[in-house]
Amino acid sequence: GGFESMGLSYNVYNGIKRRGYKFPTPIQRKVIPTILGGRDVLATSRTGSGKTAGFLIPMLEKLKQHVPEAGIRALILSPTRELALQTLKFAKQLARFTDVRTCLLVGGESMEGQFETLSHSPDVIIATPGRLMHHLAEVDDMSLRTVEYVVFDEADQLFEKGFKVQLYDILGHLSQNRQTLLFSATIPNALSDFANAGLRDYERVYL
Ligand code: AMP
Repeated sequence: GGFESMGLSYNVYNGIKRRGYKFPTPIQRKVIPTILGGRDVLATSRTGSGKTAGFLIPMLEKLKQHVPEAGIRALILSPTRELALQTLKFAKQLARFTDVRTCLLVGGESMEGQFETLSHSPDVIIATPGRLMHHLAEVDDMSLRTVEYVVFDEADQLFEKGFKVQLYDILGHLSQNRQTLLFSATIPNALSDFANAGLRDYERVYL
């Protein structure tokens, strides 16, 4: 099946077409229907497999449009600024026919500029763990309790870069009522412990 058989709404489907994607990659074919069905997912996948669109497309389908006052509804954690920025670019392109608002929270940029974008009630935050925790510590009314959709991207790198403490902290800020996805090239022991702590009844996807 192609993207047209996935039951996506018109605005999301058009974003995919405009981005130039004609057929889903194998991981997208596996993971998009599973995520749309509401399951948590632990996916073994590499860069280059199309994993980013694999979690962005169902995210946009679930968010559909900007909801004022709803708070942050989706959170994507990346191990590096570069990956976060790349993911933001994909998200903006795929979301071009929606009014879903995105916000990038990474180190190396001023907190003030990020406070400003946060004040425009983003639906999606794409962040590195250190800077996200910094914002949570600084901003009294910032909350992750409203987050419905969480992605730990390149999770083995998140651990290798020493973000373990922040990752467990972030789990503690989330509500139980959420869908959690974890993408990783490898699943070392520390990561499977984390998956057991953060994911519920997850589907294991291999590629
Ligand atoms: P990723 O594995 O997410 O880093 O994606 C690798 C590359 O594949 C990126 O340049 C994407 O834009 C591209 N890509 C993702 N999905 C598709 C698709 N369905 N068709 C063609 N290219 C794609």
